[in-house]
Formats: sequence, C-alpha cells, structure tokens
Amino acid sequence: MKIHSKLPNVGTTIFTVMSALANEHNAINLSQGFPNWDCPQRLKDLVNHYLQKGMNQYCPMAGVGVLREELAVKVKNLYDLEVDPGNEVTVVAGATQGIFTAITAFIRKGDEVILIEPAYDCYAPGIEVVEGVPVAYELSAPDYQINWDEIQELITPKTRMIIINTPQNPIGKTLKEEDLQALDRITRDTEILVLSDEVYEHLVYDGKDHQSILRYPELFKRGIAVYSFGKTFHNTGWKVGYCVAPEYLMKEFRKVHQFNVFTVNSFVQYGIADFLKEPEFYLSLPNFYQQKRDFFGEAMKGSRLKPLDSEGTYFQLFEYGHISDMPDTEFAKWMTTEIGVAAIPVSVFYTSRKDEKMIRLCFAKTEDLLEEAGKLLRNI
Ligand code: PMP
Ligand code: GLN
Repeated sequence: MKIHSKLPNVGTTIFTVMSALANEHNAINLSQGFPNWDCPQRLKDLVNHYLQKGMNQYCPMAGVGVLREELAVKVKNLYDLEVDPGNEVTVVAGATQGIFTAITAFIRKGDEVILIEPAYDCYAPGIEVVEGVPVAYELSAPDYQINWDEIQELITPKTRMIIINTPQNPIGKTLKEEDLQALDRITRDTEILVLSDEVYEHLVYDGKDHQSILRYPELFKRGIAVYSFGKTFHNTGWKVGYCVAPEYLMKEFRKVHQFNVFTVNSFVQYGIADFLKEPEFYLSLPNFYQQKRDFFGEAMKGSRLKPLDSEGTYFQLFEYGHISDMPDTEFAKWMTTEIGVAAIPVSVFYTSRKDEKMIRLCFAKTEDLLEEAGKLLRNI
C-alpha cells in the first residue's frame, strides 16, 4: 500500500541518533539531556509504597486529585497564582504529550503557529500533523536576542498560537520580565494562545527568577503552561508531567487528552504528590545545577571550543567556527567518534537548518564525567 506520510520530512530524532552513536563508540554522552545519576531514594520509596499498596487501576482522567492539589499549592507558592486543581491542572505522560495535546486541541488546518528558533524538536511535527503551519522566528548567535517587534510583524489573521520555551532548549537562555510584558502586549485582545514550555522552570541560575506565564495573570488568560517531572526529579524515563491552563482552555485540552492518553500511571502520581510536600528538593535545584554548570565551565578551560553563557536548562552552547568548517551535524558526529564526547548540533533546531557552527553539551552529569569530557575536548 502506498502511504502518503503526514510527516514526510521527519526521521529519527537527533537525541536518539546521537545517543546511539555515543553508545556505539563508547563516547561520553553529553548529547541527549538526562542526568547520569538516579532520582531520589525517598521518591522511589514513596512510589514503590503506592505500587505495593495497590494504587494500580485507572485514576481520574485529569490525574490523581491529591497530586493536582499539591500542584496548585506549588503554583501558588512559586508564582502567586491561584489555580483550581479540579479544572485547571492536568497530569500528562510527559511534557511531550502535553505539548502535542495542546497543539492538536487548538490548531486547525491552515492556522499559523509562531516558533522561536532554535526550537525544541517536538513542536513543529505536532503542528504539521493537524495541517497547521509553523512560522519560524529565527534567533541568531551569540546573543539570541528576541526582537518582539519582529515577532509582531509575523502575526497575521491566521496566527493562532505562539510557542515559547523558557529556559530555552538548546540555547540555555531565559526570558526576562520585559519579554513576558512584550508577549502580553502583542497578544492581548487577539485570538492568539501562548503555549509555554517551562520544563526547565527550576533550572534558572545566578539568582534570577523563572519568568513563568503563570506570573502574568493577563497573559495566563490565554496561556497553557507545560511542565515535566522528569527534569525536576532526575527521572526523565518516568515520563510524567502536568499542564496548567485556565478552565475554558483546559476543558478543550482534556477533550483530546482523554482520547489520546486518558490517564497517566496512578501509583507514580501518588508518590510524586507526597514528595511535592517537601519543596526543599526542587528549591535546591538552581543551586545544584549551577554548581554543575560552573564545574563544567572550569573543566572546559583550555578547550578551544568557545562557551556561550548558560542562564538556564542543563545545556551549554559552544562555538567551533574558528576551528573547523565542518557543518555542525558532521562536527558533532566527528566529536563523538574521534574525540569521544557526543554533542547535539544546533542547526537541527532551525527549520532552515541555519548552521552557526554551534554545538550543545549537557552538563547534567557527575563531576568525574564532566572532568573527563573536559580533558578529551582539550584535544580539539
Ligand atoms: N520541552 C523541552 C524544552 C525539553 O527539553 C523536553 C525534554 N527534555 C521536553 C519538552 C519533553 O519533556 P518530557 O520528557 O517530559 O516529555
Ligand atoms: N529533551 C531532551 C534533550 O533536549 C531529549 C528528549 C528526547 O530524547 N526526546 O536532550
């Protein structure tokens, strides 16, 4: 049978490709973003407790009630926003599912969605599946500064959504108060929704605050914020996250959610609900990862790769244009096979494949590995 692919240009994700190459060549894997340590024992014990206790059947479609209540408390404490756990919070099977569900719930054929590139790779395919049109706004190295007037110029009567991501993967930059204010200004009194990917909400450094859309009540009226426990609790393989949106949007979100997922595993949600009662864990993350970032910075001293600042996420960009003319996809592969450290090329996050000779390295690794990676990278 001849299949008319809905995603003819999509192959295997760069994360899978680079991690496989790293494994094949026994390279230190600083490509795909995940920590090389386990999640907290206490969290595992709590989840295990509920598994053994028999919380193993379907839970309510929007997620376990006690978890949604804890999440409402977290949102209030962090962002001073009252949300209704009954109608404005939904537990999802990882941020990827939350993003896909939000896009497919609201985007129709021909609707335009503005993406700020380099953008995380799961946004555009979701838009294309429902025959929406991704509209790229390209940032440029080394400062990746957003000019909101230029974004405003991209808005047409067909614009239905803007997707933001702060802190932003892969560039490690954060949006500031002025950015959120500008976004509010250009979308106010329009039909444009704001999908805010905030999976790295706790990975913001140098004493800065995370600028969630939840801090801006007017903006939140047309916003959907997406979070991932995988980033917050060092367990990317659990694939559990949550979305927060005003009731009228959440109602539509759940219509899709109930038919593409229905519910997320129950016992894990109960365990996470208890663990959230100890906010010290996630409140310590900025400090914890900032130390990693700074340690990696020291380990990379003497390497000819030029570091850019990382204000957030567990990624840092490095420029190599003064060392090699290789396209970044080739350079990342060469680094993996010849130097022994795997990286992610940044061009894959641009629709145009703009290549500014930039690679992304992940510093969510133990110090021995970061030290060793630094040593190997000084050979370039
Ligand atoms: N958004 C961004 C920016 C990410 O980096 C990731 C994954 N690391 C996700 C979404 C997906 O998160 P999850 O693993 O919870 O699906
Ligand atoms: N978000 C992770 C990264 O940026 C990868 C997740 C995935 O492999 N899909 O590296």
